[in-house]
Amino acid sequence: MFKVHSPLKWEEELAEVSAGDRNTSDLAIASASEAFEEWANLAPQERASFLYRLADLIDKEVPKIARVECTDMAMRYESLLNRVIPRGARNFRAYADLASEYKGRAWESNGTTNLIQRLPAGPTVIITPWNAPFMLATWKVAPALAAGNTVILKPAEWAPLSASILADLVDQAGFPPGVFNVVQGIGEEVGSFLTGNPKVRRISFTGSCETARKIGIEAAKNIVPFTAELGGKGALVVLQDADVEQAAITAAGQYDDSGQVCLAATRLIVADEISEHFLDCFHQNVDKHILGSSFEDATTITPLIHPDHLKRVEAFVDRAVVNGDEILRGGKRLDSQQLFYEPTLVKPASNKSEIVQNEVFGPVLTFQTFEKEEEAINLANSTEYGLSATLFTDSIEKAKTLGSALRAGTVWVNCFLVRDLSAPFGGLGISGLGREGGNYALDFHSDLKTLQIRNSDES
Ligand code: ADP
Repeated sequence: MFKVHSPLKWEEELAEVSAGDRNTSDLAIASASEAFEEWANLAPQERASFLYRLADLIDKEVPKIARVECTDMAMRYESLLNRVIPRGARNFRAYADLASEYKGRAWESNGTTNLIQRLPAGPTVIITPWNAPFMLATWKVAPALAAGNTVILKPAEWAPLSASILADLVDQAGFPPGVFNVVQGIGEEVGSFLTGNPKVRRISFTGSCETARKIGIEAAKNIVPFTAELGGKGALVVLQDADVEQAAITAAGQYDDSGQVCLAATRLIVADEISEHFLDCFHQNVDKHILGSSFEDATTITPLIHPDHLKRVEAFVDRAVVNGDEILRGGKRLDSQQLFYEPTLVKPASNKSEIVQNEVFGPVLTFQTFEKEEEAINLANSTEYGLSATLFTDSIEKAKTLGSALRAGTVWVNCFLVRDLSAPFGGLGISGLGREGGNYALDFHSDLKTLQIRNSDES
């Protein structure tokens, strides 16, 4: 058993969850292996009908899932209720649609017909983080199931509860036994039992670079493909011609949910000429943030997930001060009892400062200015990460040229967090491996095969 605490009331124990071990992991993988053949042999449209039923059940349970998730990990209830949890249902519908529409690909060359087929790959381990547990689990589970794989989901130990609700809903939707399994547990204890099992044929992971490296080693032992969506250190570049007010609103919005978002644009990189105006607008918008219970609609700043995480954020800023970086706002925790950290803005002593180069995963942004646009792109591209970047400009020409020059898996221009589920999603550099989204995820969860047939002489 391991204990779960709510960030909203840390002093109380919220739940006890049974911790998986080697035995539970082996059992779950055996059950997924046994269920695989029958599930893989269903027509994609038949599998899709289970996914649609599951999506309908999620829709009915949105308020309950949102309540549990909010209590478990303190994301804002309003956001969970209206956007994040409903996205879970959308994930299943999107993949049910895509997998059933897929016709394979075919073309003729060298007097032969090439037929490209997708074969389900096998039992799939999915490991998810604590910062959007239900949404990220569904985002990864949906393509795996739609492609014909069976799934073993290991949610994060800091926010494990909604995964068990998902298991209940899968059961209610009538999925055959063994198609979807949940193993709860502490990652370091149970992780390798799941990722190192030779029956597993795909691993899909979202979390830290450090864990991805360990999973990569396990995956390599069995030659198993894995995808990893990892951290980010997104730049928000504001050109001189940009809508400064809009850029400042977007920048201030990076403190929502206390910045515990891998896609967050945490490095503000602003043209010199407009930097004062930008900072004024930014501060005005940050002043509007309301810190409070995640269940209050007005709240924007929520507690951090865990006291250890708060200490980590604190230590980052403390080291920044020692390094000579300048704290422009915030810079400390809010009170000794609760898990709030002030929205913090740091002007780094140099672009090499740790606070610029490493992911904090908290309400901490950096502020840098530039004279030439080339300099802005160099600053934006100067970390090892490459998950997302954001650009504000009034010029469609620059949107294209500078947007293309930004080194990131997703670049938003004059917008933020807009997502089309069929677009590829993932990171460059240490931000990840492989792509999720649309057919990219279905290809990953399949063994792609070429069937090449010689054309008959008459044809
Ligand atoms: P974070 O910094 O977001 O907590 P982690 O990489 O530590 O990121 O955790 C993400 C997920 O990875 C969690 O579900 C965690 O339990 C799991 N995990 C941690 N260590 C391992 C490991 N060695 N093998 C597999 N999964 C792990």
